[in-house]
Amino acid sequence: MKGHKGQILAANASSVEATLNRGIASLPQPSTTKPLQPVSWQQAMKAAIRSGRELCEHLGLPPELACKSSESDFPVFAPLEYVSRMQFGDAHDPLLIQVLGQSLEMQFDPAGSRDPVGDLAARRTGDQTEFAENFDPVLNSTEVQPGLLQKYRRRVLMITAGACAVHCRYCFRRHFPYETVPKGKVGWQAALDAIAHDHSIDEVILSGGDPLTVTDGLLSWLVERLNAIHHIQRIRVHTRVPVVIPQRVTPGLLKIVSRSRAAMVFVLHFNHSHEIDEHVRGALRALRLAGSTLLNQAVCLRDVNDSLEQQRALCLTLVNAQVIPYYLHQLDLVQGATHFAVDDARVIDIVEGLRRELPGYAVPKLVREIAGQPSKTPVA
Ligand SMILES: *Cc1c(COP(=O)(O)O)cnc(C)c1O
Ligand code: SF4
Repeated sequence: MKGHKGQILAANASSVEATLNRGIASLPQPSTTKPLQPVSWQQAMKAAIRSGRELCEHLGLPPELACKSSESDFPVFAPLEYVSRMQFGDAHDPLLIQVLGQSLEMQFDPAGSRDPVGDLAARRTGDQTEFAENFDPVLNSTEVQPGLLQKYRRRVLMITAGACAVHCRYCFRRHFPYETVPKGKVGWQAALDAIAHDHSIDEVILSGGDPLTVTDGLLSWLVERLNAIHHIQRIRVHTRVPVVIPQRVTPGLLKIVSRSRAAMVFVLHFNHSHEIDEHVRGALRALRLAGSTLLNQAVCLRDVNDSLEQQRALCLTLVNAQVIPYYLHQLDLVQGATHFAVDDARVIDIVEGLRRELPGYAVPKLVREIAGQPSKTPVA
């Protein structure tokens, strides 16, 4: 997402529920110097580290590691709960690399696009509709409303929120114009009407940004509205918030999950086994006990998880926490993030290694997104 500090905090100012839910997960013990206080997820958002310099200082690293110019386009945003899982003094920490803006981002790479997955093409903003040349008109037979994308049959993706609880440097959404996304009860209405009218849709994917940056009150309203549409059988939540701020799994969220008629599926986004600590495990367990299915999608990232050892550790940690590795994505070549790319041949080798060693259900599908294709495309 392309965010500003103001945007990230917009939810806190206007729409935060009066009662701040204390998370079900107790709080992480920091490996770093700054002690963590037990806080609500909203307070954790407010207390997040917002510059590379601050992040380096916090981890005892030279501040010159941070690249200020990379932050003007896409600011650093990293909650302390996430930072506490990084190794103090390690400039190569796989979690740090995911959030610290580096000078590599400033190099123009002709391979990088600003809309690698065709989201801008699949999206209608107000009066003007723009479609990429390779966009399949058959797939777009369903009218796409502002904030509602449809690339694939049966399922639509609702851009529920513009904010995220962490800024991932490799994110293909860093250039998406989230400021223009319709938000809240009034903003979502057009999308809800379109979903209600189209009986070919049986699954709604709440995405963003990150849908769990929305308050429980608003989320509960949205899930109730979707449950009132009889042809909706599944509600999928694509989120990285429980990864970085596990106390986002509030009693309120668990109530939403356990009351939903439509099956609820959480597609989490863990890239490295170090992202899962006992607090995160507690949050995952609570989501599962409330009746949801838990899946994971990871992105293959150079120097983060591009080895058999790291992928094996990630997949095993996930299945041990009863989260099924669903997708391993080949990176979308987005401007400013191409230095994270890993060769197809290398990733294919890694996944073949996983297949030799792990139970079948612990091996994710290796895919890439190609604009205009009827599904994610297997990499083989
Ligand atoms: C990835 C994606 C989906 C979900 O695809 P699945 O293969 O069902 O996980 C749906 N809609 C859009 C726009 C997507 O990008
Ligand atoms: S949380 Fe997801 S959408 Fe947000 S920056 Fe990270 S990868 Fe991108």
